[in-house]
Amino acid sequence: MTVQAVIGGQWGDEGKGKIVDLLTSRAEVVARYQGGDNAGHTVVNPYGTFHMHLIPSGIFSSEVTCIIGNGVVVNPQRLIDELVVLRQHKISIERLFISEAAHVILPFHPILDQLEEESRGNSSIGTTHRGIGPAYTDKAARVGIRMVDLLDEEILLSRLTQMVNAKNRLLTKVYNHPPLSLHEIYLKYLEYGRQLAPHIRDTRQILMQALREDKRILLEGAQGTMLDLDFGTYPYVTSSSPSIGGACTGLGIPPARIQRVMAVCKAYCTRVGAGPFPTEAEDEIAEGLRERGHEFGTTTGRARRCGWFDAVAARYVVDLNGVNSLAITKLDVLDEEPVVRICTGYRLNDAVVDYVSTSQLLWESLTPVYEDMPGWQSSTRQVRAFEDLPEQAQTFLRRIEEIVGTPIAIISVGPKREESIIRQTVF
Ligand code: GDP
Repeated sequence: MTVQAVIGGQWGDEGKGKIVDLLTSRAEVVARYQGGDNAGHTVVNPYGTFHMHLIPSGIFSSEVTCIIGNGVVVNPQRLIDELVVLRQHKISIERLFISEAAHVILPFHPILDQLEEESRGNSSIGTTHRGIGPAYTDKAARVGIRMVDLLDEEILLSRLTQMVNAKNRLLTKVYNHPPLSLHEIYLKYLEYGRQLAPHIRDTRQILMQALREDKRILLEGAQGTMLDLDFGTYPYVTSSSPSIGGACTGLGIPPARIQRVMAVCKAYCTRVGAGPFPTEAEDEIAEGLRERGHEFGTTTGRARRCGWFDAVAARYVVDLNGVNSLAITKLDVLDEEPVVRICTGYRLNDAVVDYVSTSQLLWESLTPVYEDMPGWQSSTRQVRAFEDLPEQAQTFLRRIEEIVGTPIAIISVGPKREESIIRQTVF
């Protein structure tokens, strides 16, 4: 029996979609545990190129049961849109189950997301305006609406009435925004409930059954640990827990059942939106990485900030999550670099520290200490075995393993499934 979690080891967008897609060929259940449609996975497989925001990439493997856990916040319209695309490609969707306890994004959540961001002015967090933060806020405030509520006309009307009245007061009185219609929202969400009803279940029980049957279960994280609500670079973080604790609370799976945790990291680093990013590179280098790595957000199209591999942050991620293997993606993006860098410590005043702090002030006063290595300046795209990589690339990867203290199980050298070097079987 193996439960394998795959989490983001940096600031999100590490290429988790590809790694999960690769691993699902051996999985029997794939479960997403947090975030919403602010996450964006690009999956390239024999069916085509798909930009998935909610549905686990496991849906492309015909034998895999896919779960959207209670920790996810669901925009029903987006979910239905993704289902339509999958149906058009003749991909079976009967194996998709959404937790009845997952919270629903309502029309005022994206509006409030945008209004709140605007009101922050220069201190905006850089959210995707998808309403994810406001939906989690309502969940914590115990006024949210859950998937199961969409299946009961009376409960939905009663909960929506309370919520829409409160939100309309906020919209009109604080933000000078026109009110939304309770009637329209009610009818629309009732219809969403009708359409999604075949998929809404107690997903914790499905997982428990899978555990009893010794099935191979893959837990799929969205975003990355450095964006974790508690352990990331607060307040420039996401509104859920991409780290491993989020998998337990977001699915109802006991911690001791998660035997393996893989962190996905790019061979360099990127970050979307504002916030501390110690290894951000100077303009010219960042631009080169951005162009070669197509570092533009799947969800927003925003240009990502780019920089060097941060081994200090990676070690923090390993410690925090009990990571026992790494997947290093996008090695090919460094193919042309004459010099590649790994950040091994942060300089703070006159001292060098090798740990991550949760204080924003401290983060902002750090400068990275780098170890520079010669680049390999040749293509790695066709390489399928570690020993066939250019020597400089092998040295670079071994050094990452050494500093981070964790073996690299998978190296990705291109977006396609086959553009991978598998050093350790996962299941
Ligand atoms: P995720 O949210 O962590 O899945 O990351 P994204 O989907 O936002 O970003 C990954 C992007 O990089 C996608 O466009 C992938 O197709 C692509 N990608 C993944 N692995 C590799 C790789 O090894 N090399 C290259 N060049 N592209 C990759």
